[in-house]
This record gives sequence, C-alpha cells and structure tokens, in this order.
Amino acid sequence: MEDILTFIVLPAIYLVLLMGYLFVAPFIALLRAAALVSELLWRYVQVLDGVLRRRTPEFTTVPRHRPADELAHRNYFFGPATRDLRELLVQGRQMYLRTVTDTGRRVRTRQFTAPTVHRALSIPYGLTLYVGLGVGAIFAAPLLGLLLGVQALGVALLAGGARLLALTLRGVDRAVMILRGLPRGMLCPSCFERVPYPAYDCPRDRCRRRHADIRPGTFGLVRRRCACGQRMPTLLMLMGKDTRLSGHCVHAHCGKPMNQDAGHMSEVILPLIGGRAAGKTQLMAAMVKSLEDAAADGGAELRLADPESRDAQEVLNEVLEIQGHTRPTQKDLPRAHSFVLGTGRGRRLVHVFDTAGERFVNREETDALRYIREARTFVFVLDPMAVDAFWTRLDAEGPKVDRTLASTVDPEDVFARSVQTVRTMGTRLDRSRLAVAVSKRDLLSGRSALLPDSPDDTESVRKWLSERLGLRNLVETMDLDFGEVRFFCTAAVADDEGRVDPSVTTFVDWCMNG
Ligand SMILES: [Zn+2]
Ligand SMILES: [Zn+2]
Repeated sequence: MEDILTFIVLPAIYLVLLMGYLFVAPFIALLRAAALVSELLWRYVQVLDGVLRRRTPEFTTVPRHRPADELAHRNYFFGPATRDLRELLVQGRQMYLRTVTDTGRRVRTRQFTAPTVHRALSIPYGLTLYVGLGVGAIFAAPLLGLLLGVQALGVALLAGGARLLALTLRGVDRAVMILRGLPRGMLCPSCFERVPYPAYDCPRDRCRRRHADIRPGTFGLVRRRCACGQRMPTLLMLMGKDTRLSGHCVHAHCGKPMNQDAGHMSEVILPLIGGRAAGKTQLMAAMVKSLEDAAADGGAELRLADPESRDAQEVLNEVLEIQGHTRPTQKDLPRAHSFVLGTGRGRRLVHVFDTAGERFVNREETDALRYIREARTFVFVLDPMAVDAFWTRLDAEGPKVDRTLASTVDPEDVFARSVQTVRTMGTRLDRSRLAVAVSKRDLLSGRSALLPDSPDDTESVRKWLSERLGLRNLVETMDLDFGEVRFFCTAAVADDEGRVDPSVTTFVDWCMNG
C-alpha cells in the first residue's frame, strides 16, 4: 500500500501539480526577465552618472585628456565626449556581465545547491528563473546597445556641429581681418614679420602659460579654459576693449610683445628713408608731435601704442623743444614707432620706421627691412645740405650754415639704392605714394636764397630741387617710379610753446590721408 502511495499516487499528484505549474511558469519567467531588464537599466543609469558626472577613479579606465600636458582644457566635443563613450562601453559591458552572472549565481545557490525547500519544488522554480534570466539578458543587451547608440549619435552630431561652429567663427574672424586690410596678419613691431595670429599669455598672474593658437577648435569655441582654470576669449573679435590679452609674436626667434591694438584695427606702415643725419628721426618726432598737437586741438585722437614708443617720443619731444638735433639712428634694427590714430571704425595702428640709410647698402641687411613690403606711402627725407650744389651754387658768398650739421650721404645714391631694394621685395611702386621731405628748413630760415621761392608749394620745391640744386635726374626718377609724388619743405622743430612748425602739419596730413 505504502509502495502504491510512494510510486504511483505521489508522482501522479506531483505531475498534475507540475502540469498546473507549467501554466504559471511563463508569467514567473517573464516577471524575472522584466526584473533583470529593469535592474540592468538602473545600473546603467548609475554607470552613466559615474562616467559623466562623478568621474571617480573606478569610472576611469580609459585615460582622460590632461589639461596640464595640453596647456588648456579641451572642449567636450573635441575628444572628451568620445572618451566618455568608450568608458561607457567598457563600464557598461562589465556591468552587464557582472549583473547577469551575479543573478544567475544567486538562483543556482538558492534553488539548486542549497535550497530551503525540497528540491522537487525548487528545481522547477529555479529552471523557470533561469529561463526568465536568459530572456531578460537577451532582451536587455540590444536595449542597452540602443541607449549607447543614441548617445553616440548625439555626440557625433554635436561634435560635427562644434567643428562647424569653430570653422564658422574662424571664418568670420578671418573676414574681419581681411576687411581691416590684414589678410596676412599683423606686423610684429620687433622683427617686422607678419604674424597671422598672435600667441597669448594666460592673463592670470601666477600662470602666464603661453597659448600659441587660441582660435576656436579643440580647446574651446568661444572661450578657452587655461590649464589653471582661467577663461580667455578665443578670437580677437571676441576681446572687448577691457578684456584684450597681451599678444606675442609667434616667430620662434622673436616672441616679443605685439601692440595691444594689433589686429583690432587696420595698420599703416610708413617708412622714412634717407641718408645718415638727413633728419629722419627728428622728422618722425615732429610728425607725431604735430599729430599730438592736432589731437589736443580737437583733431583725430592720438595714442602711442606701446611703452617703448611712449618713452621714445618723450625724449624726442624734448629734443624738438630745445631745437636740438638727434644723434644718427643706430644701425641695429629699429623698433617701430607705433601709435593709434583716430577713434571708432576709422582707427588705424600706424607704424613709422626710421630706417638708417646705411641699411640699404648691403644685401644681407636689406633683408631685415621686410616691413617695407607692406608700405603704400614712403617718405624720402632729403637733406639739401648733403648736395654739393647747395654749398656752391645757391649763395655766391657761400651759405653761412654750420656744415657739420649736414648729412654726408648723397641723396641720389640713397634713393637709387632704396628703390632698388624695395623693388626686389616685390612692392609695386607705381601704386605707391612718395612724400619727399626736404629737411632742415629751420636751419635755413631767414636765408631766402637757400630756400625755394615758396617753400610750402610742392611745385616750387620740385622746381627748386631740379633747377637750383641740380637734382633733375632724381626728381624725374621719382616721378617715373612712384604713382604720386609730393614735395614738402619741412622744419622739424617746435616753437617756445612746444607747437610743431606748420610745415610738418601739412606734410603729415598728406602722409596719413592716403
Ligand atoms: Zn616678432
Ligand atoms: Zn592660466
């Protein structure tokens, strides 16, 4: 009887119950699958939070970009976003495998190895859970893949957008530069090379890292964040008047500071050419002083562009006032005498170059006169006392002027050499203007025999040079070489009140309004 119970009745009851369970089992399996999918999703959210926000060491298996090595923080869509995706892929896969194996192991322990109920009950239940876990794992994998895919697509679109924005910003900035007449960049006042875009120092005092190229791109679109955390604008056009950074020349041999205004306005280059002691430095000082006087009288505003120019002008103003004469320009490369003229849109950064005449003598030295290439107006300083005819033909008794003040270089010689040099640099002289400044008028004042009939009239000065000083060839060459030539008779001195001689004012006006 007992055997019948054990081997017939009980198995029959068990089988009937098992058949009944089979109807419930799919629901249990489905619930287990849903629970696994939900757990995986929740864990994925935690991984997302860890990788994108908390960024703790356990979420850093893929190396991150180090601002300390790269000078600045990268824009998120230029590198870090892709790194985060890779990190998510690695962490997500680990999380998936860990979660699925952990839940599987739990089922095995509780239902198979150490069940709390009879195995006859735990085994079918355990098998149901296994099926559920399998279904959940198979269903969750593409779902997680889809989430990651959507994120990757978003990153790709935004990264493309960021690159497009960077290109657009650069393009606009470039267009502004071209409109300002700076297609090849700005002039370095120290080495005279063109600087397409200056390098900038971090404005934070304790940092001062030099950023070679701050333009929109990998390290920021509108702002760049220095490794020290300091933010700085990425384009000249984004630098307000108060947020201008100090730019530096990008040429390896130079690296000297650029003018603060460089790139923010158009540039004018005005070379003063002439023989040694022809009066170039003095004329340059008088030009700036005359513009300063005009500004004080309500004319175009003038501001010296850098400390070097300010210091130099201070010394030169004193020389002008004592009506003294400056020492001949040193032969080493001059730094440009730079100033900002005008206000608003009409502002110009003017670089005046006082070039030692000897520079034009040998070939290697003329290489240093690169800035001349960009000039459209040239000033030729002509010392009449350097011409022999001045001493022999003008005054029968011989001019009573201190001959030691005369330049000893023949103007025709200097002019011929200079023109040749400028030509070899590829400058179209026929499109350039030439102002001939006959210097040292102050030394000859009151001696009408030594001056043109009407020294303020260009034709009169031209005639005087050709007929009385015997420089007909020189004058004719000038007319042939240059598109426009004007003659001025200048006295580079200031009166007792410190005002520059009016002859300089007319000359400067012509030079500046080309
Ligand atoms: Zn330079
Ligand atoms: Zn910094």
